Amino acid sequence: MSEDFSGWFHRMLEENEVADNRYPIKGMPVYRGFGMRIIKVMQRYLEDLLECDGHEPVYFPVLIPEEVLARETEHIAGFEEQVFWVTHAGGNKLDRRLALRPTSETCMYDLMSLWVRSHADLPIKIHQSVAVYRYETKHTRPLIRGREFLWNEGHTAFESREDALENIEEVKKIYLKLISDLLCVPVDVNLRPEWDKFPGAEYTLAFETLLPGGRSLQVATIHNLGQHFSKVFNIEFEDACGVKNLVWQTSYGPGFGRLLAAVMGVHKDDKGLRLPPEVAPTQVVVVPIFFKDSDKEKICSAVSAIEQSLRSQNIRFKVDWGEDRPGSKYYRWEQRGVPLRIEVGPRDVEKNQALAVRRDTGEKTALPLDNFEVGDLLDDIQDNLRVQARQSFESRFFEAESIKDLDEYLGEGIVFAGWCGQDSCAKIFETRGTILSLDKDNRRGCLVCGTDGMVIKVAKTY
Ligand SMILES: [Zn+2]
Repeated sequence: MSEDFSGWFHRMLEENEVADNRYPIKGMPVYRGFGMRIIKVMQRYLEDLLECDGHEPVYFPVLIPEEVLARETEHIAGFEEQVFWVTHAGGNKLDRRLALRPTSETCMYDLMSLWVRSHADLPIKIHQSVAVYRYETKHTRPLIRGREFLWNEGHTAFESREDALENIEEVKKIYLKLISDLLCVPVDVNLRPEWDKFPGAEYTLAFETLLPGGRSLQVATIHNLGQHFSKVFNIEFEDACGVKNLVWQTSYGPGFGRLLAAVMGVHKDDKGLRLPPEVAPTQVVVVPIFFKDSDKEKICSAVSAIEQSLRSQNIRFKVDWGEDRPGSKYYRWEQRGVPLRIEVGPRDVEKNQALAVRRDTGEKTALPLDNFEVGDLLDDIQDNLRVQARQSFESRFFEAESIKDLDEYLGEGIVFAGWCGQDSCAKIFETRGTILSLDKDNRRGCLVCGTDGMVIKVAKTY
């Protein structure tokens, strides 16, 4: 099953109406209703957390003038090959090129330099949920690597480095809530090696999970920008003593498409998706079952009682009155990952009950029609999926004692190995996978040359 994750993933996208990859621009899939509803739930959840933490929502234009994008040299060098340019309006050539935002640091900080005058204007914490555009030259995959992708980006300005570091800790907690509490997806937070950090940042933290094919997937990043951008964009404030200082900045973002891919892949089983109830577009599906018309009336009134109580509990539910046989309905809703199915048949109704079937375990529970309650079951499913996913994640960390070990474990999960720090040895790792992080405090012999070195984490990545 794990070998064919990519085939499975594409089939799920299509059959469950998550996304359609046939849009006639490569790397720009269409997000369909089922996928977009999951994204909307995560987006609202994240935006609420950010706004409770003092972030203001903003919207910046999609176009960035070339001279603004190019002002920070490291930054533009990092994105140069990936920028889409608008060069014409109608038949006329524009007098300056305009970029489709690949990320918004430059255009936002250009304006921040006008907004910030004194320490009273700080901190600034803003966020926006938008699409960004990068002409990816690597193999594109729907949701995972696209040339247009949906994300939320946060940007800040602070008086001191300490304030910026505190913000990084807060945002880390917010992202872990989104990824682990809401989506039940386990992640590892890695400090990116110097050569792999965000262009223009002091350092980058990356949140990584593992998909069933054994590849790691980066779902969010946080960048400490230090004063690199504030120097270039001249974002200065006057402190309480009237002295001018540059602000300290951070920026961060999770990708909604990648989070959607993660929630689909991490919890899957042989029958299809298993969605955590809190993010599932449909949390409960009610399937009425009757073979004789004489049963129909009883079933209908039981179903409408159930509908009423689900509505009063604010549960997202559907009643499947379709003509198909119950078995094929079960198959379809299971594939879609609906966390709980309620079967309402003649024998159940006689006993004044309905049968609840959990998607995560298949376990069946009879629920009384009076005082019909599913909240506890849904909470249980949410917790169980989180625990199962965490256990599976933790079982996929490996120690490599030799290159042979490395080759065996890469593609299964995340591998610890020793590296001396030399480029020539790094090549041996990087032709096989990606170095996710370095741990210089732990010493170990280099897997390639044997020299004393640091511990690194390596994985195959998307
Ligand atoms: Zn070495």
